[in-house]
This record gives sequence, structure tokens and C-alpha cells, in this order.
Amino acid sequence: MTQHFINGRHVAGRSGETMAVLAPATGEEFTRIACGTAEDIDDAVKAARAAYEGAWGRLTAAERGRLIAKLGLKVLDHFDELAKIEAQDTGKPMAQARADIDATARYFEFYGGAADKVHGHIIPFLNGYNVNVIHEPHGVTGHILPWNYPAQMFGRSLTAALAMGNAVVLKPAEEACQTALRLAVLASEVGFPDGAINIVTGRGHEAGAALSAHHGVDFMSFTGSPEVGRMVQHACAEHLIPCTLELGGKSPQIVFDDADFDVAVPIVCKAIVQNTGQTCSAGSRVLVQSHVYDEFMGAVAKEFTKLRAGTPEMDLDCGPVINARQRGRVQSFVDQAREAGIPVIAEGAIAQGVPNGGFYVTPTLFGKVPRGNRLEQEEVFGPVLAAFPFSDEADAIKLANSTEYGLVAAVWTRDGGRQQRVAKKVRAGQVFINGYGAGGGIELPFGGTGKSGHGREKGFAALEEFAVTKTIVHKHG
Ligand code: NAP
Ligand code: MG
Repeated sequence: MTQHFINGRHVAGRSGETMAVLAPATGEEFTRIACGTAEDIDDAVKAARAAYEGAWGRLTAAERGRLIAKLGLKVLDHFDELAKIEAQDTGKPMAQARADIDATARYFEFYGGAADKVHGHIIPFLNGYNVNVIHEPHGVTGHILPWNYPAQMFGRSLTAALAMGNAVVLKPAEEACQTALRLAVLASEVGFPDGAINIVTGRGHEAGAALSAHHGVDFMSFTGSPEVGRMVQHACAEHLIPCTLELGGKSPQIVFDDADFDVAVPIVCKAIVQNTGQTCSAGSRVLVQSHVYDEFMGAVAKEFTKLRAGTPEMDLDCGPVINARQRGRVQSFVDQAREAGIPVIAEGAIAQGVPNGGFYVTPTLFGKVPRGNRLEQEEVFGPVLAAFPFSDEADAIKLANSTEYGLVAAVWTRDGGRQQRVAKKVRAGQVFINGYGAGGGIELPFGGTGKSGHGREKGFAALEEFAVTKTIVHKHG
């Protein structure tokens, strides 16, 4: 049984209501969490405000940075413990959980080091004036996060806000909030003042909605579905605060006839099965030049057939998906595509001996998928890859930009001119050339366009989001 973490302490929550948390690998309850209410959110926002105006707000940038860096070291000290918690809570294979905790530590290292490197500047203005441009925190930032990479998301969203001096309130996903709660305790242990980091667990439509509507919150950072993102932005509009939205994608891998197939094939597979396809930046569409389509997809199919889903301890290519609802959603995409007669090019398998109650799905590769089909347009959030042929460069760009999303893309070609032309024309916040993903990519600005959302996280770009620019004009004569 876990509790909220407000003002440096575990608290039960005002309603006393709790809900079960299931391990996706077994489908069995392993703990319960407190169901946060608007009152709990209010307590958390008030604690954050007090910290911002008190002990946390008084720290220098260097002092904040040192605390964040210390938390990074603490994460490394608790590496195995955190990886096990994350694997149990999300069902992900241990290797993935370990990679996630490593990336989480990297966020603390990066933002710990960056905290005192956000400098203002001086503008040469009229005679007799001195103009300084400085970057200040918003105050209290609210964070609503999903269940796919809970520890990494804590590192990515909260740490950038903290580095800039904001005090934070987090509503993690009800399905996976155990590492966030543990990280908040570790933060207290390294010396974060009470109230700098607050966590209210529970349901999105209760605790999440209350957080995004709270007038004591100065900025919202949301990661999740477009449907909920829209609600969060509406709530922010009511009290005229800015928000960043990170809402997923339908990211294309564009493979031209001159690509290095040996390099591309395993990466195309990994980009859709990593974290069982539950990655906002999953490479969920593969677009292949027509005259090499059969050759390339034949090689992908060979790899895809070997994919296995199993428990965290089996440590295979995939784990289960997060819950029964998500399994049903993934299965409905697969069933509909089969019924529509879209060919299955290859299937992986669920490993022998997985617990019956776990939420496992079979990795599935479809192609050729008709243009305009649901598999082209909608995010599955599971290990389902859709393949499409294209004729030439113009057709490739048209197909890549055919969805409302625009998060990540990859272009596979040895032609230097084409690399640049396609990278510039494809609608995405990040474009990879002859590769995909970057092991967390802590330093690299990340975010979407269109239905993928707006605003940037990661790297120094996130620090700009979590700050307000102030121009101080001094007429000294
Ligand atoms: P979701 O409902 O958007 O959940 C994201 C977060 O928002 C969770 O913490 C959720 O709380 C909270 N939330 C739900 N309703 C809310 C409301 N009315 N106001 C404020 N916060 C609210 O996403 P999901 O249901 O978990 O997944 C659905 C789909 O979203 C997936 O299939 C996938 O396509 C997409 N998704 C994208 C990402 C990404 O990284 N971009 C991550 C996860 C999911 P609860 O804990 O109650 O859910
Ligand atoms: Mg939900």
C-alpha cells in the first residue's frame, strides 16, 4: 500500500479511498495506491507554493544543480532496486527497465549540471539604458505523466522544471507510479526541501483534472493521449497558463533503395518492439521504395518472426502491455486488419510458460497496408508494425506526412542530398538519418507538431519551456 507524497511526507489522502495496482506480467494485484482528490491536489499545490516561496526558492542555481546531481548518484546507488520496481510495475523486460533507470540517472546528471548554465543576456539599447534579459521559474509546475516510462518521465519532465527553480506537483499514471514515489523519497534523503517535489496518485479524471484546473499552478506539462491532452489544454486555457503536450505519434521509417539494409533491418524491428511498442516515438510505420519492398520486408519478416514476448525475468524482446484494456485495444487493431484482409507478413510469439493472467500480445507485422487505413492513421501503442510501399522521393514525403501526427521520423539512404531534402520536408520534431532513437537522447530537444503536441522537452530546450523570460530596462541616464 502506498500513499501520496506531499510536503516531504507520506500522506494517506483525504478520501481514504484506495485502488489496486496489477503487475502486467501476471495480472495479479501487488499493491494499492491512494486515490487522490481535488483536496489532495490542493494540499500538494499549497506545499509546492510554500517551498517555492521558502527554502526551495531561496537556493541558488548551483545549489539546486548540486541536489539534482546528488539525486542522480542516489539513483545509481539504488539501481537494481529501482529497475525491479519499474519492471514489476510496468511488466517491461529487465534489460529495458535497467536501460530506463540508467536514462533516469542521466537526466539528473544532465539537469544537475545545466541548472547554473542558463544565463541571461544584455541588449545594446538606447544611450543611457541598460537592458538585461533574465530567465525566471514559472513558480509551481504541474506534471501529468503516463505509464510507459514512469522513471524516465520523472527525470525528463520534473527535473528540467526543478533545475529552473520551479516547485513541482506530479500526478503519475494510476497504472505505474511506484518508481516516482520512490524517487521522491530519495530526493528528500539527498536534501531536497519539503514541498519541492509533491506526488498525488490516483485517477486522471479526478486528481489529474484537479491539477490541470488548479489556479495555483503556473505551468502544465502533460504526456499521454491526444484526447486527454486536449482536456488539459482546455483546463489551462481557463486560467490562461501555458502547457506543453507530448501526445504520441505514428512515426515513419523511410527506406530508400540505396539504404544499408543490414543496418536498417534490426533497427526497424527494435523501434517498434522496444517497450512492447508502448513508446510515443515508436517507429510504427515502415515505408519502403517499391522495387526493393519485397527484398527489404523479407529481411524484416525474418527478424520479426524471432521476436518473443515474456515476463520481465525472461528478459525477451517484449513484455506484456500495461493492462487488459490496452491489450484489448492492440488486439482490436490486429483483428480489424486481419478481417479487412491486410496480409500478415510475419508474427513473433508469446513465450511458453508466461502466467495466464498476464497481458501479452503477439508482435505482428502487416503489409502492404492500404493508404488511409486505421493502421496508417492511428497510434496502436503495441508491437504492431505497418508496412507501405512508395514510388519515389516525393511519394515518400507525401506518405510520411499523411497522418495528423508528427513526432519522429527516420530516413534511410546513402544519398547525402536526399538525406537533407527528406529530413527538411518530413513533419516531425526529430529526424534521424540512417539510425533511429538515441538511447534516451537526454540532450536532444524532443517534442511534436500537430496531433503529437507542442513544446519541447529534453536538452536545454526544456529549460526554456520551464522558464519565463523577463526583460529589465534600466534608464540610468
Ligand atoms: P491517458 O489517459 O492520456 O493518460 C495519461 C495521463 O493522463 C495519466 O496520468 C492519466 O491518469 C491522466 N489523465 C487521464 N484523464 C485525465 C483527465 N481528464 N485530466 C487530467 N489527466 C488525466 O493515456 P492512457 O489512457 O494511459 O493511454 C491511452 C493512449 O494514449 C495509448 O493507447 C497511447 O496511444 C497514448 N499514450 C501516449 C503516451 C505518450 O508517451 N505520448 C503515453 C501513454 C499513452 P490515469 O492514471 O487515470 O490514466
Ligand atoms: Mg488512462
